[in-house]
Amino acid sequence: MYSVTDPATGVLVEEVPNSTAEEVEAAVARVHSGYQAWRQRSVVERAAVVKRAAELFAERADELAAIMTLEMGKRINEGRGEVGIVVDIFNYYADHAVELLADEPVAIRGGRAVITKNPIGPLLGIMPWNFPCYQVARFVAPNLVLGNTILLKHASICPRSAAAIETVLRDAGVPDDVYVNTFASSRQIPAILADPRIQGVSLTGSEQAGISVAADAGKHLKKTVLELGGSDPLIVLDSADLDETVKATATARMRNCGQSCNAPKRMIVLADLYDEFVDKLTKRVADFYLPGDPSDPETKLPPLASIAAADEVAEQIERAVRQGATLRAGGQRIEPGAYLEATVLTDVTPEMDAYYEEIFGPVVLVFKAETEEEAIAIANDSPFGLGASVWGTDADRNRRVADQIEAGMVYLNSAGGSQADLPFGGIKRSGMGRELGPAGIEEFMNKKSIRL
Ligand code: NAP
Repeated sequence: MYSVTDPATGVLVEEVPNSTAEEVEAAVARVHSGYQAWRQRSVVERAAVVKRAAELFAERADELAAIMTLEMGKRINEGRGEVGIVVDIFNYYADHAVELLADEPVAIRGGRAVITKNPIGPLLGIMPWNFPCYQVARFVAPNLVLGNTILLKHASICPRSAAAIETVLRDAGVPDDVYVNTFASSRQIPAILADPRIQGVSLTGSEQAGISVAADAGKHLKKTVLELGGSDPLIVLDSADLDETVKATATARMRNCGQSCNAPKRMIVLADLYDEFVDKLTKRVADFYLPGDPSDPETKLPPLASIAAADEVAEQIERAVRQGATLRAGGQRIEPGAYLEATVLTDVTPEMDAYYEEIFGPVVLVFKAETEEEAIAIANDSPFGLGASVWGTDADRNRRVADQIEAGMVYLNSAGGSQADLPFGGIKRSGMGRELGPAGIEEFMNKKSIRL
């Protein structure tokens, strides 16, 4: 069952039944039958449709933001900001379609060849609730431009976002057999992946979902992109202005109420700055104690996406403290609704679960490192490898540290974030493949070598 439950109150607003097996089959048949016509359209035509989608997303930003606020508690201004990035992504792929899909001549021994950029067919997208519009955009915009067709299964707490996105695309001119939303349950995914008409799958979500989808996709030899969890390190080497560093750190961690895959989650601070950093951070997160209505732009602390999510993070905090971590700030679940105070934990050691697991909520872990080398070692001592950030005044040193970090993305003197033209993705248990930028259109592309 898909359902909308307001996380600010815990009140159930709407239930949407799962698609039946027959409906799922009909949806697969649609994206399969739409593929031949869509791929035959010129790149310019497909790009024009994607460009129109960008305009419509911009026009409907308020409506989409309000849906996200209701469904998963996103602060209203953050929702509008999210739609702004969606607009950028659709514009980026529309504006660069011709150059990204141009034939590539290759000089080869004894002749000439060209690589042409072709779609591979109908794809399945499985998306999470934390950025209901942005996650879909990362997968959909490049693949529509390329000529693939898409069956989309959104998170079961986001049916209204799913429907609103489909409406935007339809109104922009995406045919109804080129992008199809399904309310399939995760139990129906193996059958979809087994279907020979589906050529690939992109999942953004948890490790567990990634394991399950990758196993089924592997069984049927389907190309897979996985954008999974992260526990990104943020290394503070030195600081021209510690107040600014702490402020940027807290803001980045508290974005989307701590529910961003590439938020900085583990702050690793060199010893001479550590005490002051923890003091300042502890004071700073007190801004995020007072629960508020996420539709009020003044609210600092919105709810998490669901009561279950808030309970799970509260349990992780409690377990960390039971295992010996020090609770420096926050930590309290606030009811009614899915609220949790911003939390700072220190003295987390490798023996504790919190050291290695992802905490998907407003919780900061701070570690002390005696040397730069130790900071890098702590940063890399993680099953994840999504993003990282390095803060310091010496550009060469920042770069030296960045080069040694095991992650798909490193930001210098900024934390997290995402932009349309910069590839996004991780290594290790954070997944495989890239979205956004030129790399994002290549994942489900047949780069066909033609020897002339
Ligand atoms: P989730 O529970 O894994 O759900 C994500 C999507 O996968 C939902 O549509 C969900 O459907 C579906 N799903 C769950 N189990 C499945 C299974 N066994 N087979 C097929 N589909 C399955 O993740 P979430 O809690 O929504 O999202 C939070 C996680 O996503 C965090 O770990 C976060 O770090 C990660 N994330 C990563 C990125 C990135 O770019 N790397 C971006 C955002 C989020 P139902 O809703 O129906 O269960």
